Amino acid sequence: MTDKNKPQNTSNWRPATQMVHGGTSRSQFGETSEAMFLTQGFVYDSAEAAEARFKGEDCGFIYSRYANPTVDMFEKRMCALEDAEDARATASGMAAVSAALLCQVKAGDHVVAARALFGSCRWVVETLMPQYGIETTLIDGTDLANWQGAVRPNTKVFFLESPTNPTLEVIDIAGVAEIANAIGAKVVVDNVFATPLYQKPLALGAHIVVYSATKHIDGQGRCLGGIVLSTKDWIEEHLHDYFRHTGPSLSPFNAWTLLKGLETLPLRVRQQTESAGRIADYLAGHSSIKRVIYPGRADHPQADIVARQMSGGSTLVAFEIDGGKPAAFAFENALEIVRISNNLGDAKSLITHPSTTTHKNLAEEARAELGITDATVRLSVGLEDADDLIADIDRALSSV
Ligand SMILES: *Cc1c(COP(=O)(O)O)cnc(C)c1O
Repeated sequence: MTDKNKPQNTSNWRPATQMVHGGTSRSQFGETSEAMFLTQGFVYDSAEAAEARFKGEDCGFIYSRYANPTVDMFEKRMCALEDAEDARATASGMAAVSAALLCQVKAGDHVVAARALFGSCRWVVETLMPQYGIETTLIDGTDLANWQGAVRPNTKVFFLESPTNPTLEVIDIAGVAEIANAIGAKVVVDNVFATPLYQKPLALGAHIVVYSATKHIDGQGRCLGGIVLSTKDWIEEHLHDYFRHTGPSLSPFNAWTLLKGLETLPLRVRQQTESAGRIADYLAGHSSIKRVIYPGRADHPQADIVARQMSGGSTLVAFEIDGGKPAAFAFENALEIVRISNNLGDAKSLITHPSTTTHKNLAEEARAELGITDATVRLSVGLEDADDLIADIDRALSSV
């Protein structure tokens, strides 16, 4: 008989099953729902037992900055889903991104990143890393020749996000990995927009994948979290000590919330994607809309790569409204169901005007390079009825 309280071998389970059961480790009480271990430390039966644990002779817990049973379940469930050997969960997506990048480079190394990055990721690459003597180059990542062209003898890491925020550009991950492998560099992919369901960066050749779990993984706008996933060897060599001693650890309470979020991730993301696809098609047919960008529509600029590397579209739609900033603001203000917020991946539909919010710190030319105009808005589609959302958008557009 199998011991049902022990973590199970989940490798042949499909994603939806992994997201409900993967990584579950029950206590002696056999609870159905994952237990929340709100504890900082752990006690030992004897001084000898404490010594043995610190020597690594038994695999129990030591301190929640290093590891915690609830956080461990979240890490194992994410590993099952990504087919990753190991992971470290973090307090936010930015803690995951900055740890994944900084733990593997030193002064004198060179990092190449696609310039279409989440604002804080771009700050880490463009501003923070050079302060520590790490050279960085930002490129248009949609053209593989730019990755090759940016390579220097000291290039150690390639970093990209795909689809990108907010204009949903798509980068050929397998192509970037091939260039990186030829020079022994590592590829870090921020997979937030694709979600763990629609894109498997590790399977495409990336070496490290990072998430802001704040977004679709929580999915209901409650808590921050993040995770870095890779091979056991990479984590042991680069992230293990960095993580223990700099302390970006995830709270067990948030890990528990994220475990619950994973249980419903496929249902939510599928519904949100279906609604987003309908809204994108509706917008494309509207006379006040100049441009719609939606991975999954045939008119997406990288539709061929979307078809190759993604198994679904997106829960986000970017579009441009005729009439620039005044029209974009009037449209946002006229919406009744869709709320104005810079967050995404929530059950509630949220809209943002990137050039005055998330991307306001970029120079005008940098925004133009990314395809962000005064008329661009980004919609994160929630779980409301798609007909209500379309009616809300339609009414707001008519009033502009
Ligand atoms: C939100 C986000 C982050 C940062 O995550 P936080 O949890 O807010 O720290 C990083 N990358 C992308 C693509 C994001 O959308």
